[in-house]
Amino acid sequence: MTPDLMEEGARRASAYAQHAERNRTESGGRAAGFSRPVVPGEVDTAHGRILYLEDVNVSFDGFQAIKGLSLDIAPGELRCIIGPNGAGKTTMMDIITGKTRPDSGTVFFGSTIDLLRYKEADIAQMGIGRKFQKPTVFEMLTVYENLELALKTDKGVKASVFFQPDSEASDRLAQVLHTIHLADSVNQLAGTLSHGQKQWLEIGMLLMQDPKLLLLDEPVAGMTDEETARTAELFLTLKGQHSLMVVEHDMSFIRTISEKVTVLHEGSVLAEGTLDQVQANERVIEVYLGR
Ligand code: ADP
Ligand code: MG
Repeated sequence: MTPDLMEEGARRASAYAQHAERNRTESGGRAAGFSRPVVPGEVDTAHGRILYLEDVNVSFDGFQAIKGLSLDIAPGELRCIIGPNGAGKTTMMDIITGKTRPDSGTVFFGSTIDLLRYKEADIAQMGIGRKFQKPTVFEMLTVYENLELALKTDKGVKASVFFQPDSEASDRLAQVLHTIHLADSVNQLAGTLSHGQKQWLEIGMLLMQDPKLLLLDEPVAGMTDEETARTAELFLTLKGQHSLMVVEHDMSFIRTISEKVTVLHEGSVLAEGTLDQVQANERVIEVYLGR
């Protein structure tokens, strides 16, 4: 979730609670809607890349966490990123989303947007959605309310509580509910969902904003086998419509979803190719897969 969405959610949850208290009989137990979905600006992918990193470097107190990192992602691609703990996978996502500033290097969204010139909230607005490892849904709100919350652009508490979603937004909400397999749980409090369902809900919240690029950090960690299989299915439906960068350790999950895998090690790309190719790579076996 983006920082401004976190803030907005906390604000809205408390406004909603007050409103519900005052209008117990009128609200029908359902949160009112919000305004239009975010319409991200055009991203120029004419050169076949939605994301482009070149020679990126970051040090933390003299420790170089990212070292000459270069990679690019094609529009509609689902790229898996693997690598040992400490390889720099999360830091790479921090750089793309504007959370961490690199010391040097180039980071472009499409061929025209220099991401290093923008703040974290602007980058999210442009259509880069990020999912952190731990689910961060609003437990005291229903599935429906969580998704509705993710729609909104307009900040006023009043707008948040009273506005109705327009029909385009309602259609999107219905579609997202279906995509994330939560159509039967619309009115359930998010706090009562399983771990896997919370992860799907958070992915749904990102989808409400129709991101061009989705960054997902270890999305199936802690999921049951069945939840993992359904998540693979979900990602396969997203591929093509969105570009995805997925950090994972679960090899069978990666095998199901991915065509191309990038292996990070000590802050740079160690190998890139199909899963079979990288699994057969001597260096990858040595540093990551083990013998
Ligand atoms: P991964 O996600 O691949 O496990 P990380 O990107 O989290 O790796 O971390 C890469 C390296 O950078 C690690 O050695 C980590 O300790 C270090 N690191 C990451 N963020 C910070 C930070 N904010 N301050 C200091 N060191 C950091
Ligand atoms: Mg990490």
